Amino acid sequence: MKAVTVEPGVAGSVRYEEVPEPDESTGSILVGAVAVGICGTDVEITSGAYGWSPPGRDRLILGHESLGRVVDPGSRSGLQVGDLIVGIVRRPDPVPCPNCAVGEWDMCRNGQYTERGIKEIDGFMSERWRIEPGYFTKLDPSLGILGVLLEPTTVVAKAWELVAAMRARAFWDPRQVLVTGAGPIGMLAALIGVQHGLDVHVLDRVTEGAKPQLVQDLGATYHAGAVADLDFDPDVIIECTGVGPLIVDSIRKIGAGGVVCLTGVGSGGTSSGLAPADVGKEVVLQNNVIVGSVNANRRHFYRAAQALAAADRDWLARLITRRVPPENITDALTRGADDIKVVVDFGGS
Ligand code: BGC
Repeated sequence: MKAVTVEPGVAGSVRYEEVPEPDESTGSILVGAVAVGICGTDVEITSGAYGWSPPGRDRLILGHESLGRVVDPGSRSGLQVGDLIVGIVRRPDPVPCPNCAVGEWDMCRNGQYTERGIKEIDGFMSERWRIEPGYFTKLDPSLGILGVLLEPTTVVAKAWELVAAMRARAFWDPRQVLVTGAGPIGMLAALIGVQHGLDVHVLDRVTEGAKPQLVQDLGATYHAGAVADLDFDPDVIIECTGVGPLIVDSIRKIGAGGVVCLTGVGSGGTSSGLAPADVGKEVVLQNNVIVGSVNANRRHFYRAAQALAAADRDWLARLITRRVPPENITDALTRGADDIKVVVDFGGS
């Protein structure tokens, strides 16, 4: 079969090439690929900056935002041929740490977790892949190709869970939410905020293109410009850019007792000139919470599937701005100005 592979650490090594059929040891359920989403992590891996190949091998099959149809459900999976499923990305560390031991592998304590398509286990960008019972989520069949949005939705499903957990600290009834960045993660964070009945605002740099209208059609408010210029102090900020100055601005803008959840993975960037202790002082004097969030466990996959099933299909469809066949993987990895979610289309939807 064919797969998109990469040599982690080596820029420009991505290829669509012949590989062996997936080994049965990788899971008793055989799945035919429908589509695989591309995100910043895939771009980072193919640029040589991130990623690890499986032990004893040079190349890794890329792809962690999966969507497939069951070809062979194996025994005791509860699946039927043709079911639409998404594979969970992370696997617990072998020790295991206390969190991995109870299925909270997204909170792995020792860093020895593995991740499909990212860290030491093959991903989903192959014509067929296998998965273990217990490491997939079955989707509402009416989602079709939109199910490829599930994995990015799990990231924000976890972020929203973390925000909700902060209610235990004190009396807190958050109403106004700011999402920074109108990319796929930002849009999906906004979707869940609206589903929770909150007053959601999304801020991005662009003034034209699909993003402002998408935000408006969701029932949220779009802002282009600086966080500091907003005329309200949000109760919750979900930061989805990883851009240095935006992170600092978000921490400064959050209202008293509010929560800033950081989901973006960036690097560098000059701050707005504030010394760390001055930023810290604002956090202390306002009882703010700054929390980072990565990855997702089975519960978040379940919640994300519920969020997608409840979402307007036409709105979700507008998030997928480009579908690229796997042989054009290099095009898929190059982001155009108007792109929100680019997917590698394996057919079969
Ligand atoms: C994925 C996560 C993963 C993280 C770090 C993200 O793109 O969505 O599942 O944990 O990268 O590898």
